[in-house]
Amino acid sequence: MLALRLLNVVAPAYFLCISLVTFVLQLFLFLPSMRQDPSAAWLFSPALLHGALFLFLSTNALGNYVLVIQNSPDDLDACQGPSTRRAPCPPPSTHFCRVCARVTLRHDHHCFFTGNCIGGRNMRNFVLFCLYTSLACLYSMVAGVAYISAVLSISFAHPLAFLTLLPTSISQFFSGAVLGSEMFVILMLYLWFAIGLACAGFCCHQLLLILRGQTRHQVRKGVAVRARPWRKNLQEVFGKRWLLGLLVPMFNVGGESSKQRDK
Ligand SMILES: [Zn+2]
Repeated sequence: MLALRLLNVVAPAYFLCISLVTFVLQLFLFLPSMRQDPSAAWLFSPALLHGALFLFLSTNALGNYVLVIQNSPDDLDACQGPSTRRAPCPPPSTHFCRVCARVTLRHDHHCFFTGNCIGGRNMRNFVLFCLYTSLACLYSMVAGVAYISAVLSISFAHPLAFLTLLPTSISQFFSGAVLGSEMFVILMLYLWFAIGLACAGFCCHQLLLILRGQTRHQVRKGVAVRARPWRKNLQEVFGKRWLLGLLVPMFNVGGESSKQRDK
């Protein structure tokens, strides 16, 4: 349990460090390198468009991250621990999270990167957090590849060029041909690629469960769920203002229906 509690602190710190490093690289390395293009008009300059797109992706990723932490799944007030599982009529899909030390309704899983339980109230924000983190990482990777390509005069036209970049740049780094800052960006490219793919996979898996009307906890326990139209399952999590929620980080308006379903 001590290891899980420690992971619950280390993982959010790791996420915030990666976010900070990404911001610093974008602002002080990638954006200034784009400003050197004098041919484009100011309004449509690559730096402005790149900055606006990265700001949109990162604001949605961090905004939904904060909302996931703020909107914990509903506590089961009458229950204070594992013994309450023996309550007369416990609502379905309740679960006692040992890390958070509380019983939650519509529990899905415990996310160590947010240090919080994921369930009915914050599920939409969690899915959008995964989506925008994935997009922000993959976009940073593309910007980083463009930067490295320009600085080191490397062509990424060949599909295997990205795979061979690390071993060749390590040997060049020790021979002095590649600077420390450039080597750091190259390492970050692989980290962004890995986080981007992992978050995209996680987002797709979570969306599949939502369409089926299941939670990860129910799948793990083998709990059968009522067959419902996928549109209803989707609306229950994403609410009626789903399009606005896609563009701006906002509270989950589908939470009330989740409560009703459990009661
Ligand atoms: Zn938890």
